[in-house]
Amino acid sequence: MKALVYHGPRQVSVDDVPDARIEKPTDVLVRITSTNICGSDLHMYEGRTDFEQGRIFGHENLGEVVEVGDAVDKIAVGDMVSAPFNVSCGHCENCEHGLTNYCLRANEPGLAGAAYGFADMGPWPGGQAEYLRVPWGDFQCLRLPEDAREKQDDYVMLSDIFPTGWHAVEMSGMKPGESIVIYGGGPVGLMAALSAVTRGAAQVMVVDRHPDRLRLAEQIGAIPIDDSQGSPVDQVMELTKGRGADRGCECVGYQAHDPQGNEDNADTLNKLVSSVRFTGGIGTVGVFVPQDPGGPDELSQQGKARFDFGNFWFKGQQMGTGQAPIKRYNRHLRSLIAADKVKPSWIVSHDLPLDGAPEAYKRFDAREDGWTKVVLHPDQTA
Ligand code: NAD
Ligand code: ZN
Repeated sequence: MKALVYHGPRQVSVDDVPDARIEKPTDVLVRITSTNICGSDLHMYEGRTDFEQGRIFGHENLGEVVEVGDAVDKIAVGDMVSAPFNVSCGHCENCEHGLTNYCLRANEPGLAGAAYGFADMGPWPGGQAEYLRVPWGDFQCLRLPEDAREKQDDYVMLSDIFPTGWHAVEMSGMKPGESIVIYGGGPVGLMAALSAVTRGAAQVMVVDRHPDRLRLAEQIGAIPIDDSQGSPVDQVMELTKGRGADRGCECVGYQAHDPQGNEDNADTLNKLVSSVRFTGGIGTVGVFVPQDPGGPDELSQQGKARFDFGNFWFKGQQMGTGQAPIKRYNRHLRSLIAADKVKPSWIVSHDLPLDGAPEAYKRFDAREDGWTKVVLHPDQTA
């Protein structure tokens, strides 16, 4: 089959690789019809993780079931399904408690949490390919309604960024009528904004410096804050009458940088602490890593950050962190899409065949104007 293979920093190509296949009786084999490029892929694409060369990217997957193992009894051939990016078994202690983001069986012993095509998240090949093996298929696959094919660009967001944005808002503790500031106007930040709007925020502010991304935030009623035009903290303070936002979301991660490109992994965290009110909450879904050999200084190379803990403690704030438990939300968010209450595909800028992936990686990685979210369709040819 064809798949998008990583060959080293900023080097990917569509190669012929052995077909994905049923390996265990609980597996489901999916023919991928939609699979997204994610900001998480870019950390790996840039060589800022220990993702192994020769592996396949792709954790935001949707497709048609073409084969099921002998022990699969719910999911059937022909079903259109969304596969959460977290690989999880469904019956370890963490999965039983709904913590499918920290499954104890899908990664190597001693590590919790796994994902398709992801550094340090188990051996699972990604879905930027013609076929994907989904282990523990009955537990993993979310069936999609009859409009699955027409609304693929909406439903494909269920595997990761829509639930992840929702989770960021959830971890912030936001209640209806509150204000919230979101750092990062990439796909994840935009989904956090959509989630906050849907959940009844009185005021949603999105901080970024790319006009195309800020425009998308504005389209759903969020207030765009351009941090290349002045301190975003000052702008949030002004918009909240000096009080600070009730809640905040971190949707950038450890490669946060100023508009000129100088990296500082604590930048968004510290700006959130300053932008959020006393006793407010922060949801951090942007990825941070235990080691970052490519980091700009010794501290960040060790996975550490100059976090403003004094101010955080002084203000009595709370913070939630980590990979999002997609299965906690994807069923209900599917219903919101089916009922036309939300349209997460408003951020999609490009629908491309798999052959378009190398070029798309280059442009999405450069945050080129107009490249806000790429959906690959391995079942289509150029
Ligand atoms: P992206 O890289 O496309 O978007 C990040 C945005 O942040 C960019 O638009 C960039 O301009 C902006 N930015 C950079 N530095 C900034 C700063 N100092 N202040 C304000 N904005 C800044 O990525 P994405 O797809 O939106 O993903 C965002 C993060 O979320 C990544 O770290 C990704 O790995 C992570 N992620 C986490 C989960 C999870 O489960 N926790 C799931 C998906 C993605
Ligand atoms: Zn993702």
